[in-house]
Amino acid sequence: MQYARTRNRFDPLSEKPFRLSRSKLELFMNCQRCFYLDRRLGIGAPPSFPFNLNNAVDALLKKEFDEYRERGIPHPLMTKNKIAAVPFRHEKMDHWRDALRGGVSFHHAESNFTLSGGIDDLWLNGAGELIIVDYKATSKAERVSLDADWQISYKRQLEVYAWLFSQNDFKVAEVGYFVYCNALATGARFDQRLDFDISFLPYKISDGWVGPALNRARECLLQSELPIYGENCVYCGYNEAIGRLNNQLSLF
Ligand code: SF4
Repeated sequence: MQYARTRNRFDPLSEKPFRLSRSKLELFMNCQRCFYLDRRLGIGAPPSFPFNLNNAVDALLKKEFDEYRERGIPHPLMTKNKIAAVPFRHEKMDHWRDALRGGVSFHHAESNFTLSGGIDDLWLNGAGELIIVDYKATSKAERVSLDADWQISYKRQLEVYAWLFSQNDFKVAEVGYFVYCNALATGARFDQRLDFDISFLPYKISDGWVGPALNRARECLLQSELPIYGENCVYCGYNEAIGRLNNQLSLF
């Protein structure tokens, strides 16, 4: 049977800091069993489809905000949404945006984990605080919001970035933003273009959970037994049901 083998497995005997990405911490928050399989045993979940259209929106938005970053003035959409800030200029901006090059990171001494993540954008307000910004793209008939249960992962994403910048001694604003781009399907025809409705959704950040979560993630990886699976995913229950069915069928 084939499965995706993961790299950078946790070694319980090693004293070296263990590097953990934001997405792997999110995996832990969703299901400890999947996290353990991935980081301790090297068995990754099957990869999901790439979100190429979303990535294109991200890349173009970054270029667009960079124009205003260079000029030191707010993007017109920031002005329209009454956000008194400018895109943040910093020599490390490109590095922080590139998760593959390490992004923004911090070594949390208590867990001995180095947490890292690649941000979308940062804005600077008049109080000298960084506003954490994440771009999202979707296409739906109703207005975008942050109300769905599954969007807890978006909120945690912003909170992890806020925690990382706070730990790196930056002042971080208590409200971050999602720049949410909604592709409209209401036009008469495609004509090789998509039009977007763009909403700036504020989110009040509460990042106090990150340090304790890293400690719990470490405890999880130190276990010698497979943790129970989470409630939010149906796959293991599905596999168990298939296994039971196979056992029954083999009796005939
Ligand atoms: S329940 Fe889902 S997330 Fe958890 S281990 Fe099984 S497949 Fe992974």
